Amino acid sequence: MLHGKVVLPGFVNCHTHAGMSLFRGCADDVDLMEWKNVYIKPAEKKMTKEDMYVASMLSFIEMIKTGTTTFNDMYFMEEEAAKAAEKIGIRGMLAVQISDMNEGADAKIKEAETLYTNWNDKADGRIKVCVGLDSPDTCSPDTMKKAVELAKKLNVPIHMQYLETKDEINKVRENYSMSVVDYLKENGIFDVKTILAHGVWADEYDLSELQFHDTSIVNSPISNCKLGSGIGDMKFLLEGGVNIALGTDDIASSNTLDMFEDLKSCAYSQKVLYKQATAISAKKVLEIATIKGAKALGLQKDIGTIEIGKKADLIIVDLNRAHLAPLHNVNSALVYSANGNDVESVIIDGKLVMENRKILTVDEGEIVEQARMAARRLFAEQ
Ligand SMILES: [Zn+2]
Repeated sequence: MLHGKVVLPGFVNCHTHAGMSLFRGCADDVDLMEWKNVYIKPAEKKMTKEDMYVASMLSFIEMIKTGTTTFNDMYFMEEEAAKAAEKIGIRGMLAVQISDMNEGADAKIKEAETLYTNWNDKADGRIKVCVGLDSPDTCSPDTMKKAVELAKKLNVPIHMQYLETKDEINKVRENYSMSVVDYLKENGIFDVKTILAHGVWADEYDLSELQFHDTSIVNSPISNCKLGSGIGDMKFLLEGGVNIALGTDDIASSNTLDMFEDLKSCAYSQKVLYKQATAISAKKVLEIATIKGAKALGLQKDIGTIEIGKKADLIIVDLNRAHLAPLHNVNSALVYSANGNDVESVIIDGKLVMENRKILTVDEGEIVEQARMAARRLFAEQ
């Protein structure tokens, strides 16, 4: 039955904002600040709970169809993402994105605790909740300390965006006269397990701190390239002992949640950065997208490899395709030649969620139509 096919552990997408899928392609080739302030924020303000549910569901459909079985998300109205994840059958970690913007940090911290109470370990344990922080330049020392307190109380990791842009470094230096890594350390962030998204600007000074903590950096090469943030040096961090995971970031900045594209971009970006074909191997990139992602989320005992005693989160990739023939090396085929459409079937938590490219748990066509209608409304009013 599986002749010419390969079974892999499902991909772990370690940095997403699933509710942003309605913004796909709405603001491309513009500056990050313009992207945020002119396009994304006004549309976000109009989003209803129904929009958030549909947007999250659209993201999860795309994730499953391209081989992702676990995601790590932070955004707002995360209860809707939780409901969608429960319904479709994907595994995920959710967090309220706490910052000092909009309604303020205290309300968000309260919301984060409520999300934990209502959703942690729900859906047969598929859903986990952690504490999310937006980024160092939008979180005050007080907010970070409160988030750390909450993470300690709930015994969960902190998921935070970190060293994504030069602007972030400049703002933290201007406001607090210190480096970003010192700012995090000073406010207790490293007292808990951390999942730090991006790390584009991490240097030797950052590494000298990061390597002593339970910290993972989530490489988001497509988002970082497309927004012009830069290419993070993952080879140097990996060799320095930091756990590296992979994430697509949101659809508005990466336009796709297909992890195969990020696998390839992760490999290419390191090779370009070092001007060396040996900078990173296909095998290492596959580890980053699976077991290292599981480790980033603290789920390595349950997922990330195919082993007896672990949860069955599996994807079947069809290699009987012209663009994958002839097959000299499976790892190379998966990283350099395959794409998400080659994923034939997906099993999550032992349950068949997609069979022969058909999602079995929700009506894909209906969700796509609802997403189109919601996006039309959100952008027609602008
Ligand atoms: Zn992000």
